[in-house]
Amino acid sequence: MSLIVQKFGGSSVADAESIKRVAKRIVDTKKAGNDIVVAVSAMGDSTDELLDLAHQVTPIPAPRELDMLLTAGERISMALLAMAIKSMGYDARSFTGSQAGMITDAQHGAARIVDVTPGRLRDALDEGAIAIVAGFQGFNRDTKDITTLGRGGSDTTAVALAAALGADICEIYTDVDGIFTADPRVVPQARKLDRVSSEEMLELAAAGAKVLYIRAVEYARRHGVTLHVRSSFNSNTGTIVYNPGATSPYATAVLNGETVEEPIIAGVAADLSEAKVTVVGVPDIPGKAAQIFKIVAKTNANVDMIVQNVSAASTGLTDISFTLPKSEGQQVLTALTNEQANVGFAGLQYDDQIGKLALVGAGMRTNTGVSAKLFESLFEAGINIEMISTSEIRISVVTRADTINQALRVVHTAFGLDGDDLAVVHGGTGR
Ligand code: ADP
Ligand code: ASP
Ligand code: MG
Repeated sequence: MSLIVQKFGGSSVADAESIKRVAKRIVDTKKAGNDIVVAVSAMGDSTDELLDLAHQVTPIPAPRELDMLLTAGERISMALLAMAIKSMGYDARSFTGSQAGMITDAQHGAARIVDVTPGRLRDALDEGAIAIVAGFQGFNRDTKDITTLGRGGSDTTAVALAAALGADICEIYTDVDGIFTADPRVVPQARKLDRVSSEEMLELAAAGAKVLYIRAVEYARRHGVTLHVRSSFNSNTGTIVYNPGATSPYATAVLNGETVEEPIIAGVAADLSEAKVTVVGVPDIPGKAAQIFKIVAKTNANVDMIVQNVSAASTGLTDISFTLPKSEGQQVLTALTNEQANVGFAGLQYDDQIGKLALVGAGMRTNTGVSAKLFESLFEAGINIEMISTSEIRISVVTRADTINQALRVVHTAFGLDGDDLAVVHGGTGR
């Protein structure tokens, strides 16, 4: 008998019919003789709808109350799913994040899991029941308040439960057949990957491939959890996210024991959620970058790319640009403006019409010419590159936001990633 954790995303439980379909799928796994713990997301786009509602009431909702509101979404889906399973003659019990023992820090809206105490889930399993857990939510012991784990956080709930319970596999059910070489909504020629390393998936998730939430991939990597990302709309094999060196009998069985040579490129991803700040006319003397980024760091902003231009010898002034999430733009601009006289820069520019494209692949380590090919393909499509940054297994470029989808497609083609068939998106709105 295996212990399987299954996570169903919002698009898989969008309405009553979908909930019944998912319930049947869970029951089938139970009938096959497995113990099952389910993590479930809020129905369809209901988290976004609750968020819209909050912003209609006030432009800046209180973080504690926002978490109270948003966690209601998962409470609805967990109860409906448990009811549906019970009506099929199988025992099921729903649990809030707090009841399931998801202990987090106190950071509302982006809480981190610090401990998992799944005693009640174990009891339910011991009694033969299927445990249904509300994704995306936790509980802080000090404040005694309900928290949320960040958008897409139900993936983290599932992975943390799989780690804490020592599950044989963590299955992530979604509205596409697995992890593709690019978002199939944007690049229909994208190909499904049979497997991808957690390292590559981490880079793809960080670069905007929302099929898996970055913190869930980090957690899986740290705790050696193997993931199987697959469609809830069919029973096709999906994509195995593996941790190199770790053995998973389940993954070996899914992949028929095949070990194929790693491709150079795993995929491409795009991110439209960032903006670019340029600090203009910075005195080109030691200590200025330190001063600027100390001010930025105090706002807790997540700075991504940084570029400093060569100073014009005649002026001794330089420009420093960096990217950060749009949601953090205003506070950083305010913080820098407050210190303008101290730092002695001439002005600030803010550009929220940028897009970031990332090409990811472990094979980049040992293959030269990857960046040349990337730049060439963008040049041929007439797309201007504004910033570049690289890591061992990733190259990222910033372009105009309105060219990003075209950029994804040309780069995808240039690296021979196009598949023979068009990818199928089974549900969801892409919101
Ligand atoms: P869920 O509601 O199941 O959590 P999400 O919307 O969070 O689903 O994630 C699935 C979506 O991720 C897909 O519908 C697809 O548009 C998008 N996506 C982005 N990049 C990729 C990729 N490389 N492979 C597969 N899907 C991707
Ligand atoms: N419902 C939450 C969200 O939409 C969490 C999740 O679906 O993973 O972000
Ligand atoms: Mg998701």
